[in-house]
Amino acid sequence: MSELETPSTPSMDESELRRGLERLIVAQDGDEYIIGRADRDLYVAVPEPGAVLVEALRDGASLGEATDLASKAAGEDVDAVDFLTGLRDAGMFAGDDDPDVSPGSEVGRGVRIGWIDRVPQRAARMLFGRVAWSLYGLATLTVIALWMVRPDLWPIFDDLWFLDDPIWSMLAMFVVSVVLAGVHEVWHWLAGRALGVPARFRMSKRGVALVFESDLSQLVTLPRRARYSPMLAGIAFDLSVLALAFGTRLAFREELLNVPPLIDRFAGALVFRQVLVLAWQFFGVAFRSDSYAILANALGCHNLYRATALTLKDRVWRLSDVEAAELAAIGPRDRKVAGWFWLGYLAGGFLMLVVMVRYIVPLTFGMIAFLTPNITGLATETVAFWQSLAVVVLLVGQFAVVPLIGARERRHRRRNRPATAGRTARPVVGWHVWVTRVSVAVVAILAANYGIEGVLKFVEASPDASAENAAAAAHDDSCLPGDRVDILDYPHISQQDAATVEYNSNPATSGAHYGMAVAPGIYRSTLEEPQLVHSLEHGRVAIQYLPDTPSDIVGELESIAKQYAPHVVMAPNPRLDTQIALTAWGRIETFDDFDEERISRFVGLLHSR
Ligand SMILES: [Zn+2]
Repeated sequence: MSELETPSTPSMDESELRRGLERLIVAQDGDEYIIGRADRDLYVAVPEPGAVLVEALRDGASLGEATDLASKAAGEDVDAVDFLTGLRDAGMFAGDDDPDVSPGSEVGRGVRIGWIDRVPQRAARMLFGRVAWSLYGLATLTVIALWMVRPDLWPIFDDLWFLDDPIWSMLAMFVVSVVLAGVHEVWHWLAGRALGVPARFRMSKRGVALVFESDLSQLVTLPRRARYSPMLAGIAFDLSVLALAFGTRLAFREELLNVPPLIDRFAGALVFRQVLVLAWQFFGVAFRSDSYAILANALGCHNLYRATALTLKDRVWRLSDVEAAELAAIGPRDRKVAGWFWLGYLAGGFLMLVVMVRYIVPLTFGMIAFLTPNITGLATETVAFWQSLAVVVLLVGQFAVVPLIGARERRHRRRNRPATAGRTARPVVGWHVWVTRVSVAVVAILAANYGIEGVLKFVEASPDASAENAAAAAHDDSCLPGDRVDILDYPHISQQDAATVEYNSNPATSGAHYGMAVAPGIYRSTLEEPQLVHSLEHGRVAIQYLPDTPSDIVGELESIAKQYAPHVVMAPNPRLDTQIALTAWGRIETFDDFDEERISRFVGLLHSR
């Protein structure tokens, strides 16, 4: 097409142009317009005449007619060829057969979720109408209120081991977690569907975590105010689940709800999971969590994530020419916000590191150490072998996939980089650069210190009990209920070792134990001694009774267990020598007749010590 040829730009034939225009999204955003390719994650903000030009061409106008319309909107002559060449060079017209955008070749591109389009829009609207959002708000208030007035409902790490077997707990929580994460995304899609936005889905890397995320980039077609509903939908779902789990625990403990204790323990594991997930959503700004999307929207940004990452890199180190060009092409608003938004990145990154070091890493290595003997020592006919193998594959797999996804994302970005963008001159090294550098250095030192501390704690030799015994003997504990039992050495052991472990009391009050404790709560099945002993080490008190104990007595015991809910593990135990046995770390009391006062005194004085 000869009229699109100018001396400085290569030619663009008309069919290429028309096909390219078909794939573009054009949307108004405040005073600007957004032109983008949703399938390639490419968006540029353009002034109104640019949008007028593209719309006119798409409506079948000739280039001359479209240029006239755009010039009228601009109030001056517009260089249409220059503008279209810019769009093409930014990759806006790349064809579907272009190797870098072939379907499914890039993780970052996402997959269209077809079935969401078949959900009636009216049904989707019911989940995100005024009534629904009031309920989500109510759930949020419930969570905040319960969090403030009932600290006994706060989650503890041990809540994860809610079944009488740590491996089953792990597998069950994995499945539940995947399902809940799926519904979280479905909630985003349905909220989008309520507004007529198609849903897409992709896998990506956030820091060291692998996440499945809804691709909300189509939301640019909506005015900014309308985007909050789909962006907040996932958090609304998670808060509702948390409110439900909190409520279940509260009603169980207050004896308002008579459900099997398994439900209460499961609610406890859910609370832990939901609090962790919500913390990630709120603080994981640096990892493009939902709160990032909401903030970026509120701040009027289009690509704040890359702008911030590149700004940070620019200030701390330096950018390559390609990166500098990428940053320059992002737009002034994003670059301005990125000038301070990096603070959120540092804070969020550090918080995530703390969670990794404190929970994820010890949990992963602890589980692997615990399960390896099952895999190497057990026959392949046993359930425990396959269970253990499944958990190890899940644990190792989630970390192994992350670098792969990261590499694909980088490749994707490299291909989609604007080909010709103006280079920025090196900025003058001003005070803001030094503030950034010092902050990064401080966080790096804190992180290194924290990480080393965590590793040291993890590799520490198994504790020596003799010092503890000396301290306990020196300390006058005659006022405490029950009898003192010498503390045994307490290394972590595998299930294979459990058969050979000997304890110095029945039931045990200290000694070798599994790497994972048992969740506090009421059990109707017998617990393994090495798992229960770990709970005693964590300051829990165990109430155990012979299986032939009359049910009214068991009911009385359960009432006490509910009263001291986060501190008690209660279970039947056929190995007992007496009807009822109470144990805490290094302390025991046994008797045959139910005595509420003695039990309350033992639990009340000996928990959390
Ligand atoms: Zn989400």
